[in-house]
Amino acid sequence: MNTDFSRQITVIQNHHTWEPNYSSLTVNHGEMYWLESMRDYHIHDNGWRDIGQNITTFPSGNIGLCRPINSTPAGIFGANTGAICIENLGNFDSGHDQMTLEHKDSIIFLNALLCVKFNLKPVKEQVVYHHWFDKKGKRFPESKVNNNQVGDEQKTCPGNAFFGTNTITLAEANFFPLIANRIDQLSSTAAPESPVLTVNASILNVRSGPGKSFSVIRTITEGSRVTVFTTTGEWSKISNTVEEWVFSAYLS
Ligand SMILES: [Zn+2]
Repeated sequence: MNTDFSRQITVIQNHHTWEPNYSSLTVNHGEMYWLESMRDYHIHDNGWRDIGQNITTFPSGNIGLCRPINSTPAGIFGANTGAICIENLGNFDSGHDQMTLEHKDSIIFLNALLCVKFNLKPVKEQVVYHHWFDKKGKRFPESKVNNNQVGDEQKTCPGNAFFGTNTITLAEANFFPLIANRIDQLSSTAAPESPVLTVNASILNVRSGPGKSFSVIRTITEGSRVTVFTTTGEWSKISNTVEEWVFSAYLS
């Protein structure tokens, strides 16, 4: 992600592949196979110069870099200028693939990371679904999308069960807040002021929340070094990804 970019990025597109989907991934046909297969299809069948999307996410949580980020993708016809195209592998129409937790995390992480990198926000103008655009790349009126009146004019992409469903209202209620939280986490990880402290109790309980009433998840021994990401009252949070709290008096 440290490459220099000459094109200006103004929007992140979210799609689903529809096919291949979760059932396509087998022992014999892993993630690389399907990246190659999509690339092949896009070049030979669609006549594109490369695979359409810039990035693919997988059920495993893995992220595959595809068309160079600095190249305009083939994602939403007529609306690709300034876009980064993410294809989330799967069929997220209702009744089809159940998105794995790893996949969810990965999609949220990726959208958040791109927002940070390109100074974007999780808002309907800047993080978009294919479903919100007509076949010429013009945005449908918002009410038409929210009232499910798009009909056959456009695909359901990224799926009518993607993080709830594919309307703008529900993206704002479900999808965008998750990205916003992840952006906050990413910024706090980067914060240089997270202090690293030493455990000064012989055995220190790590609890699932900031208080004695929370259960002990594990213990750490005297002399261990921990990073304090945030504090609440007398308690310190020592993980940035999960709830792990210790009593601050035992850190120095
Ligand atoms: Zn799409």
